[in-house]
Amino acid sequence: MIMKPMSNRVCSRCIMDTSVPGIEFDIRGECNYCKLHDRFEERYPLTAEGQKELNQIIRKIKKNGRSRKYDCILGLSGGRDSCYMLSWAVKKGLRPLAVFYDSGWYSNQSKGNIRKITKKLSVDVEIVTCDPEEYKDIQIAFLKGSTNDIDAPDDQAIIAVLLRAAANYNIKYILSGHSFRTEGNTPVTWSYMDGRYVKDVHRRFGRKEMKTYPLLTFRELVYNIVFRRIKYVYPLEYVYYDKLEVSEFLKKEFDWIYSGGHHFDCQYIHLITKILREKFNIDKRKVEYSALIRSGQMNREDAISVIESYPVPESTDEVNYSIERLNISKNELDKIMNLPPKTFLNYRTYFRLINRLGFFIGIACKLRFLPMSFYEKYVKMAKALKS
Ligand SMILES: [Zn+2]
Repeated sequence: MIMKPMSNRVCSRCIMDTSVPGIEFDIRGECNYCKLHDRFEERYPLTAEGQKELNQIIRKIKKNGRSRKYDCILGLSGGRDSCYMLSWAVKKGLRPLAVFYDSGWYSNQSKGNIRKITKKLSVDVEIVTCDPEEYKDIQIAFLKGSTNDIDAPDDQAIIAVLLRAAANYNIKYILSGHSFRTEGNTPVTWSYMDGRYVKDVHRRFGRKEMKTYPLLTFRELVYNIVFRRIKYVYPLEYVYYDKLEVSEFLKKEFDWIYSGGHHFDCQYIHLITKILREKFNIDKRKVEYSALIRSGQMNREDAISVIESYPVPESTDEVNYSIERLNISKNELDKIMNLPPKTFLNYRTYFRLINRLGFFIGIACKLRFLPMSFYEKYVKMAKALKS
């Protein structure tokens, strides 16, 4: 087992460290991700004021969807956050259509979670798929592309299918189950994705034609947001979200089963985690644990101890499953692991365009047309990458 220690400088408040390119520390040793957390606390306060704002959002969703069968779209993965979001939405009297992008890599357990919760809550589910061989070709292209955004094809597809479902059903709101208090905010240098990026990496390293994969162009994105006025809303940012309490609630109410880790509902995540830790020295638990530390749900010393004592996963059954399923040999995987690491800046993406439009994106976020997290991640926190 390769031991990867915590990198040199660690934030004095959370456990984000210098393994994150561009991390900054203030005079007290606090990092810019802690400051981002504080900005989100101000933006989404757990006060009467915050609740008032949340109630206003709920009223708008209901009013807008009055004459329709559904009033919002909700992306469901079977994981804790999206399942809780669904149960919360139904409890508030919303009428969501759940959309599940089935890349073919989700476990039976997570699909079981989706079945159980939607059945009990009487919520319709729309399942969107992609040709498995074509998707595999895109996944392998990303491994050969040698960037750390190995899961960009899945993340990009989810955004695309949710926007398309909203457009198809003429629904203005997409609910996201993100909570900065438990998930944190992933650095842009650790997880970038957009349609142009997926297209370019696949063009260079893919072998098959892209036919069924849901690729979102900038034009389609802007059209849906500006002209159709489809909005992403993050209701869980306004509510106190305790990870353990929510897990217990879901188990009791829906016989929900925990996958064992954040995003582990998707079986490919096990191989991704291994590559990220061994090749890129990226441990995404630092983002999640840091969020839990800031919101008082985890002790900082415990988090450091977990990260240091359990640094890199061994070749587990799940890792081997992914390797076999992708049909790559041990030799090919070694080659992939030894390729010089690149970043999304080595490929054609919408990143520079997004940054040129940074001022307008900032205004759109202030006016609540776009989520503030978009501006924070892709514009403000990405300042150092622009040049
Ligand atoms: Zn920090």
